[in-house]
Amino acid sequence: MTKRLRILTIFGTRPEAIKLFPLAHRLGADDRFDSRICVSAQHRGLLDQVLSIAGLVPDHDLDLMRPDQTLDSLTAALLTGLGKVMDAETPDCVVVQGDTATAMSGALAAYYRKIPVAHVEAGLRSGDIYHPWPEEVNRKIIGSMAALHFAPTETAAAALARENVDPSTIHVTGNTVIDALHWITARIAQEPALAGDLAPWEKRFSGKRIIGVTTHRRENFGGGLEAIASALREIAARDDVALIFPVHPNPNVRKVMDGALAGFDNVALIEPLDYPNFARLIDICDLMLTDSGGVQEEAPALGKPVLVMRETTERPEGVAAGTARLVGTDTANIVSEVTRLLDDAEVYGKMARAHNPFGDGHSAQRIADHLAGLGNQAVNS
Ligand code: UDP
Repeated sequence: MTKRLRILTIFGTRPEAIKLFPLAHRLGADDRFDSRICVSAQHRGLLDQVLSIAGLVPDHDLDLMRPDQTLDSLTAALLTGLGKVMDAETPDCVVVQGDTATAMSGALAAYYRKIPVAHVEAGLRSGDIYHPWPEEVNRKIIGSMAALHFAPTETAAAALARENVDPSTIHVTGNTVIDALHWITARIAQEPALAGDLAPWEKRFSGKRIIGVTTHRRENFGGGLEAIASALREIAARDDVALIFPVHPNPNVRKVMDGALAGFDNVALIEPLDYPNFARLIDICDLMLTDSGGVQEEAPALGKPVLVMRETTERPEGVAAGTARLVGTDTANIVSEVTRLLDDAEVYGKMARAHNPFGDGHSAQRIADHLAGLGNQAVNS
């Protein structure tokens, strides 16, 4: 029997867990692999919700979330903790996703041990090292070390090629976020109660245009969040509109939004939703107003326009395809772009019907097949 490849998949935050559970499912069900999972728990509660819904039990849990943790102390703890797990597991390959401190430290610890790194969602670039911060640099660092680059789109693959990455190591796979969304939508269809949290709001806001809102980016702390909050106040002044806003647990976000939006009858400032309920929010809203990366990919898969409250995006495919528009964090601009979408049916219809460029729901299988190729290389060398 050929040796099974031991793959150590590492993640630490909710978005990574969402984008990696489809791959973990595949690797776990495929005889070619001996799949191990290590979570850093850089986020705790939000990560655990995803692990639970996806039915994943990590083999290692570093439990690293601390109040007011600095990037320095987090990164130091990640490097040491993940290195120890690698020494114990001696994997053939380490898989990381995206651009978090966990992904960057996981790749670096693997590189220090000369373990090949596979990077899922490789090649995203905004071109500005401070937007998004520190994610843009995290993913560039990972890109400089990875043995396999799983680019979600041709645009991402081209960005890697421009950085002189060996083309034979770049594979366009689509984004696993679409696999995850298909999976959760099927789960909800079987078990609708999984996504029932919004029912009271749906009833209360019936007949109104629903705008789903999320914001959490570090670079919007200090100024940007206040400008966003002012825009939301102006938008909420319309009585044909309701906002459903799961507020990120970061205290910076909570304080600003509570201060600006408490008291509006048509604004639901709610706790972060678990993944099935968030998928439901995208499904029931008319549009999403967000600074999130993942939501830019998910919303068009459910036919919802996305207005992106950032100055740059590393997902230009959405803007090019017409599913997303960059609206920045200027109050007047956000208000005018939302108003245009709400009031111009033609503009709205065009965005809602644009083709989703981020994937077809079969990315995890493609990635698993490429990972299996690592075993062939080892045998042949
Ligand atoms: N999400 C969620 N509940 C929420 C907000 C977001 O489950 O209340 C999910 C969403 O489906 C998406 C991911 O979290 O897949 C996006 O995470 P976030 O916006 O925090 O990070 P980013 O994608 O910007 O890295």
